[in-house]
Amino acid sequence: MHELEKQISDLEGRALRAIEAVALTDPEGLEKVEATRLAFIGQKGELTTILRALNSLDKTDRPRVGQLANIVKQKVEGALKEKHTALYEQGLSSRLAGDAIDVTLPGSRIASGHIHPLTQLIEEINTIFFSMGFSVAEGPEVETDYYNFDALNTPANHPARDEQDTFYTNIGQSVLLRSQTSNVQIRVMEKHKPPLRIISPGRVYRNEEINARKYPLFHQVEGLLIDRDVTFGQLKGTLEAFIRALFKKPLQIRFRPDFFPFTEPSAELDSQCPFCSGKGCRTCGNRGWLELLGCGMVDPNVLKGVGIDPEEFSGFAFGMGLERLAMLKYDINDIRHFYTNDLRFLEQF
Ligand SMILES: [Zn+2]
Repeated sequence: MHELEKQISDLEGRALRAIEAVALTDPEGLEKVEATRLAFIGQKGELTTILRALNSLDKTDRPRVGQLANIVKQKVEGALKEKHTALYEQGLSSRLAGDAIDVTLPGSRIASGHIHPLTQLIEEINTIFFSMGFSVAEGPEVETDYYNFDALNTPANHPARDEQDTFYTNIGQSVLLRSQTSNVQIRVMEKHKPPLRIISPGRVYRNEEINARKYPLFHQVEGLLIDRDVTFGQLKGTLEAFIRALFKKPLQIRFRPDFFPFTEPSAELDSQCPFCSGKGCRTCGNRGWLELLGCGMVDPNVLKGVGIDPEEFSGFAFGMGLERLAMLKYDINDIRHFYTNDLRFLEQF
């Protein structure tokens, strides 16, 4: 027997014993099996080293020794594979045992999501106006000063255009974050011929300091109706119906003259306080009335600007701050609650 044959047989014995020695319960069993493979039959393993010496053998010995080496390699590989499978299955079954389900445990409660109170209010307002034949229109939040100011009859020197009130972008002096949703009215009137009935809820931005009442981001809902022979009486009737539906009780309303660039005449609408029915309470500051929204008849200049003949058509517009309305309706004392994503707040709705 050749010296190399002895070495190979010896290697076979040691490799098989090493594999045998790995216990199925050993948590590092798989690593040990791999280490054994590398040590004996890996690219830098013992058997490879032995086989390098084959070339120096006599031609008559070489085939016999080579064959033996192959047989040993296959045996060791087989034993490794068997041990690997056994270890894997052992590990799997013990993990399954650990994961066994205890059917007597109480079930875990699945927390249900909530629709944000502002979204709820927008949906409620939309539904009320849908019933009066309005549809929703939306427009861009990044806007040009033409749609945000010029087309709405806002003079070039109007303080609202000031950087202290409006966020301008660095895209250009005329590109800004819209400070009102009225831009949508202009875009709709440019594209569609009257009669028109739209409401446009959406985000607006103003350069405000943050406090309990003010936030640089808030929502508006604006409405626009354009038709033939529209009167202030129709505006009053529409808003009366809206407030009645929103607070689910008949409430008196009153108008106070006001000024907005894109309506003439313009008015501020007060509603009888829905919480005390006008008697006076904390919410209305004992006045019995709440300021709810601004409104008016669309200025003929605005109609002309979008190519609608003010001799033929007239209309009204109104707009309200959604956060203020939500704060009144849900008795919330700080506007920041809407944006802090505190679950304790949101789960109440
Ligand atoms: Zn009140």
